[in-house]
Amino acid sequence: MLRLSSISAKASIAGELRRLLPGAVSRDVPLSWISRWQIGGTADVVVRPRSIDELSKVRAWISGHGLAHMVIGETSNLLFADEGLHVICVQMGSDFADVNIEGRRVEAQAGAWVPGFARRTMQAGLTGAEHIAGIPGALGGLVCMNGGSQRKGIGSSIVQVLSVDRAGHCVTRTRNECEFGYRKSVFQENGEVIARATFEFDQAQDRAGVRREMLRILSTRRKKFPRKQPNCGSVFKSDPAMYEDYGPPGEIIESLGWKGVRVGGAQVSNDHANFIINTGSATSKDVLTLISRIRANVFSETGYEMVPEVLFVDSSGRITPATAEG
Ligand SMILES: Cc1cc2nc3c(=O)[nH]c(=O)nc-3n(C[C@H](O)[C@H](O)[C@H](O)COP(=O)(O)OP(=O)(O)OC[C@H]3O[C@@H](n4cnc5c(N)ncnc54)[C@H](O)[C@@H]3O)c2cc1C
Repeated sequence: MLRLSSISAKASIAGELRRLLPGAVSRDVPLSWISRWQIGGTADVVVRPRSIDELSKVRAWISGHGLAHMVIGETSNLLFADEGLHVICVQMGSDFADVNIEGRRVEAQAGAWVPGFARRTMQAGLTGAEHIAGIPGALGGLVCMNGGSQRKGIGSSIVQVLSVDRAGHCVTRTRNECEFGYRKSVFQENGEVIARATFEFDQAQDRAGVRREMLRILSTRRKKFPRKQPNCGSVFKSDPAMYEDYGPPGEIIESLGWKGVRVGGAQVSNDHANFIINTGSATSKDVLTLISRIRANVFSETGYEMVPEVLFVDSSGRITPATAEG
């Protein structure tokens, strides 16, 4: 797969993409502007499709030209390389965000903002989306990560997912075919881009109770998590065996004295030790170094190798768990 290696290649590819999808293509985008952590070099070309048809067109065009590309949502789980992003970046964001509710069924496009989606289900008298209240990100990213809280994942409410493969063809997958696991789905490996998902929730017997539960979850999150400084949520996944022996990652990291520790501009949050904040000038190298030191320390003290939930995007668009080793 070809990277966008020279300025003239970048200009001509951006030009052709602009003819294909007018108004949806940006060049030389500082990743620190779009990334939730406010970290990263410059993305050569960012394309924001506004419909399934546009997504299919752009994927078919990119594949037809043998070009590499990668997909992002609202970047709330991503750490971008300081070197930037030298492949086409397809962003599934707010331009692609319809939500339709009919009875217990909810159909939503990949760019729908998760907290807004959760609120819409509550207002429609449904229950089941409480655990995603307040999770920042787009629905496509949430489904890809099988995100959730309170030991739940959004995958359990999915009926089917419509995705677009590399050649631009639409694929429909049932919940089983999405292969959901703890913060895992088939979309992390199969190269398909989630365009739309259909969910089924239960009718709430106690609507006010659902609202109260969402407000309770939001208030707990506000108290527990850093709110002002840029961060990417939980850095490490919780391992059930480690949890059983020692507790959740945040507790273990805190007990080893990491709260407030800094590398360059990256700092372990004083509010919650499983969060790393950008104090203003953090680089991805600072974050990766901090992650690697914490992992080494936890391993030597507990024998457990913590796996990052946060994903690192290198300059060729490769996405891996955010460890210094890649
Ligand atoms: C303060 C804070 C709190 C958080 N709390 C939680 C929490 O409680 N629970 C939780 O699970 N997560 C949590 N997160 C992480 C994050 O919000 C979720 O993983 C989120 O839903 C990811 O969505 P996104 O749009 O930001 O995806 P991104 O971060 O942009 O992408 C994540 C992954 O999904 C892929 N992807 C994105 N969109 C698509 C698509 N349309 N099709 C295919 N692949 C796609 C990307 O390639 C990448 O691999 C938190 C993050 C923050 C900053």
